[in-house]
Amino acid sequence: MPNLVVLRRELVRYGRLLGERRLIVAAEGNLSVRIGGHAFLVTPSGVPKDRLRVQDLVEVDTRGRTARGRPTSEWPMHRVIYGLRPDVRAVCHAHPAWATAMAVAGRELDGGLLTETAAQLPRVPLAVRAEPGTEQVAASITGLIADHDAVLLGDHGVLTVGPDLASAFALMETVERLAQVTLLSEFAATGGSVDPDVLARLMGGGA
Ligand SMILES: [Zn+2]
Repeated sequence: MPNLVVLRRELVRYGRLLGERRLIVAAEGNLSVRIGGHAFLVTPSGVPKDRLRVQDLVEVDTRGRTARGRPTSEWPMHRVIYGLRPDVRAVCHAHPAWATAMAVAGRELDGGLLTETAAQLPRVPLAVRAEPGTEQVAASITGLIADHDAVLLGDHGVLTVGPDLASAFALMETVERLAQVTLLSEFAATGGSVDPDVLARLMGGGA
């Protein structure tokens, strides 16, 4: 298990990466890691990730009690995951554009589309819509997160989990790429050839 100093630096680094890889903008998204059986390190509320410092991170217990600072408003969602999944040591939440578009459209993702995701991520289910920052979000994922490491949040964004931050972050990028390829492949499939009548006129030298 990495020590606390290392975990703090990792949280700041992956927070910045969320922005650099365009998985979030402004103060969106949140990250957390388990630092003990019932203790967690969480990104703070309202601080853009590109300005995040190690001293801004908030330590919380399972009841959300902190010695200092205000944790992300999505902490109830993180807490539910840690309660349901003892194997999970890191949680990543972001709003990547392609995957969020799928969630807004009310569609889940089919990992079988790509050889890279078919085995690891056969399905990314869609949770019902819930108001961000409320206990409703935690409730919306309860029936899904036990069996899935990635979930689309209805009309909202994406949630991924893993044994460490690197894994949860990589899964977030994978989900976004899967959504991008899904939508681009559908777009590509709709591209028809030129209407035969129009083509005949063009070849006939008209206009
Ligand atoms: Zn969000």
